[in-house]
Amino acid sequence: MTEELFLGDSYVRQFEARVVELSGREVILDRTAFYPGGGGQPPDKGTLGIGPVRASVVDARREGGEVVHVLDNPIPDTVRDLKGELDWKRRYAHMRHHTALHVLSGVIWRNFEAKVTGGQMRVERARMDFSFPGEWTTDVVGEIERLTNEALSEGRPVKIYELPREEALKNPDLIRTQANLVPERVRVIRIVEIEGLDTQADGGTHVANTSEIGQLEITGHKSKGRQNKRIEFVLR
Ligand SMILES: [Zn+2]
Repeated sequence: MTEELFLGDSYVRQFEARVVELSGREVILDRTAFYPGGGGQPPDKGTLGIGPVRASVVDARREGGEVVHVLDNPIPDTVRDLKGELDWKRRYAHMRHHTALHVLSGVIWRNFEAKVTGGQMRVERARMDFSFPGEWTTDVVGEIERLTNEALSEGRPVKIYELPREEALKNPDLIRTQANLVPERVRVIRIVEIEGLDTQADGGTHVANTSEIGQLEITGHKSKGRQNKRIEFVLR
């Protein structure tokens, strides 16, 4: 099992690790700060190296309990230890967009009782799909933008912790965001809570406070069927 450093601390951007398995352009380490992708958040990029040996991490994925790093070129199989460094600009952008998506999710539930059905983040933008019961007009979209920016500027702390499955499933917020869909074998659920606004079962990386996000600008919205709506936004 790879120790996933980003689960406990989203701000780890450099780390040292031992090589567990090296085959061609793929490396498995005993610990890593590279997020392997999932939940709408793309895998991290960055570098792995030691001394004169250095390669770019162009992709990462989870395979069983391990994180596989994909390199741009192979490194010698005599290498035992490596230093890793994330492309921090890219990862931090993902963190800001990811937490912004949770704020948006909290706002549209609190104010419109609309449930999120999906989300995706990139370095420059993000989008969210949800099931919106009411009328879908430019005015409503403007109102969502205003309320979300209000919540962002309130400087709400973002807390990450673990709860036993049984306890997590008693929380109505977690039921709403479908924590019950986390596989039964997962006994401890990782929670991302934006104080007073949104609580979700989540494996991604987040900023520590909504004030790090700045302000959001909705750049597109569309209707994908009677209930299914999509919002696209950028951060300012
Ligand atoms: Zn999330």
